[in-house]
Amino acid sequence: MKKIILVRYGEIILKGLNRPVFEEKLMGNIKSAIYKFGKAKVLKSQGRIYIEPEDENYEFDLVMQRVTKVFGVVSVSPVWKIETDYEQIKTYALKMATELVNQYGYKTFKVETKRGNKKFPMQSPEVCNDIGGHIFENINGLTVDVHNPDFILFIEIRENSYIYSETIKGHGGMPLGSNGKAMLLLSGGIDSPVAGWMMGKRGVELEAIHFYSYPYTSERAKQKVIDLAKILAGYCGKIHLHIVPFTEIQLAINDKCPEDQLTIIMRRIMMRIAEQIARNSNAMALVTGESMGQVASQTMHGLYCTDSAVNMPVFRPLIGMDKVEVIDIARKIDTFETSILPYEDCCTVFVAKHPQTKPKLDKILLSESKVDFEPLIKTAIETTEVIVVRP
Ligand code: ATP
Ligand code: MG
Repeated sequence: MKKIILVRYGEIILKGLNRPVFEEKLMGNIKSAIYKFGKAKVLKSQGRIYIEPEDENYEFDLVMQRVTKVFGVVSVSPVWKIETDYEQIKTYALKMATELVNQYGYKTFKVETKRGNKKFPMQSPEVCNDIGGHIFENINGLTVDVHNPDFILFIEIRENSYIYSETIKGHGGMPLGSNGKAMLLLSGGIDSPVAGWMMGKRGVELEAIHFYSYPYTSERAKQKVIDLAKILAGYCGKIHLHIVPFTEIQLAINDKCPEDQLTIIMRRIMMRIAEQIARNSNAMALVTGESMGQVASQTMHGLYCTDSAVNMPVFRPLIGMDKVEVIDIARKIDTFETSILPYEDCCTVFVAKHPQTKPKLDKILLSESKVDFEPLIKTAIETTEVIVVRP
């Protein structure tokens, strides 16, 4: 018997002729997510992936946790792989049931069998009955409940046979890197990490950019963004984080532009810088955490003005979501606790008392023409620091 990990994937099965490409990508992503935990073979067979440790002290639990975060993975199970030999199946089924009962104190169970190997002489119901009876007779106090059992013992009979009970859900989606690369505008808030995660889930590789206004915002605020990028990297693999010094630009906007337009102009300049850095990194789109109507700059008029600053697609995966829905995801992906740490962001330092909710593009352009942004933008990009953030 060998303890292995079974990985199930869903959506990419539907991708017709491209399926092998998606599968290869997923296998590659799983391999790079787990290589540091020890030696293991990653194999594909009949629409599943199997991770077979080759190392005595394999970090099983850590690998399972890590694999459930790989996009494209629907679920994983710790599995016992045995030869397709009925006596062995029976022996190990009882052994696993015994371990589960000892560990969790289960009182009821049922057996489910799938027979992928049609040459196997027994039918599935017969296997269920016989092995169910064998377990019932040998474990005191354990009874069968076919409707609502404490645990189900799954037996799959294929070329080899597999026994398992536990299944841990993944996030599904598409394998990362199957859908190009985008530049995420990452603030220290709740929304943008969630927006990045949602794009990653659709197979989009991410780089991130953060604007920071030292000394108006602190080192701790910057560290918070690095920490958020690190949590995202747990799903997406390493992330290049571009930290753009933004103080000069904010001071210039503050100095020369009408107060009620500060936020919109600031956001437009952020987008322009992000677009250039995106092009330099071969990213084809920008991603933000904006949601319709959430704050003054996120009205239809505001977003229209922001979008007009750039010539590449801007994705806003949270556009139709309420804050509560965003927070639910932030909790699920583990960014929430970091996001709510109090350190200030440049948007909260330079903020208008009454920002325009219906900015007009021609007026904004006129105000922008009062500042020579080009050299400021050039300097900001030249002095951008790039940090490689790893999970
Ligand atoms: P978040 O929770 O992501 O901070 P928010 O609701 O606070 O979003 P804004 O502050 O208006 O909204 O920012 C809107 C979006 O602009 C953010 O989701 C993020 O994508 C981007 N953004 C804002 N500030 C920064 C920053 N300092 N660096 C990088 N991107 C930023
Ligand atoms: Mg914010």
